[in-house]
Amino acid sequence: MIAAITTAGVAAGASLLGYNCFSPTSQLYGRTVTYCPQSDQLALTYDDGPNDLHTERLLELLSERQVRATFFLIGNFVRARPQIARAIAAGGHVIGNHTQSHPNLLLLSSRGIRQEISDSSKAIADVVGANVSWFRPPFGARRPLVLRIARELGLKPVMWSATCFDWKATTAAVIEANARHKIDGERRRGHIVLLHDGGHSQLGADRSHTVEASRLLIERYQREYRFITVDEM
Ligand SMILES: [Zn+2]
Repeated sequence: MIAAITTAGVAAGASLLGYNCFSPTSQLYGRTVTYCPQSDQLALTYDDGPNDLHTERLLELLSERQVRATFFLIGNFVRARPQIARAIAAGGHVIGNHTQSHPNLLLLSSRGIRQEISDSSKAIADVVGANVSWFRPPFGARRPLVLRIARELGLKPVMWSATCFDWKATTAAVIEANARHKIDGERRRGHIVLLHDGGHSQLGADRSHTVEASRLLIERYQREYRFITVDEM
């Protein structure tokens, strides 16, 4: 979830510094992946899982529609729900690192940042048996130090271009409309879509609207676009 922090960032933000720390497409602090390479590609990405029920429902939907997606997992939740983390990998989806406990990395020392990122990679390796190569900072918050440490730990940072605001939306239609606004507004780019199958503060967050919005997005775009994972970029 990025709501509170984004609001804070924009408020503070008047300052260029604040804006560039949180704007998902800004390249000021180093290159990050924000779009798909081709204009006919879409990447569905899900943050803050694994999460009871809704991650599993989402996996069923993606399997039915034969769509592969990318999941940025929180290490503590991976340890708490190993079977769901393994089901994500078994479904052919790509797993990325979303830190161990979802802190705002702008507030941590370099040692703290390193610990958060490496603990998450270790949790994923232990539970899923896979080495992670992608990283998304919680709240989209980054600065050169965060990106440098992630790269030193063998991870490539991935941001996004289409924010769906699904953590505060009340219906699936609103989430889908937020995505459409961005995708249809910029057709010459292939978008990376930010969604959430979990809530970072605790397990059990209700993400039924996100699951339903995912179904709507797949139905709307599956003929014109190819859904890809970050591994295919
Ligand atoms: Zn998050």
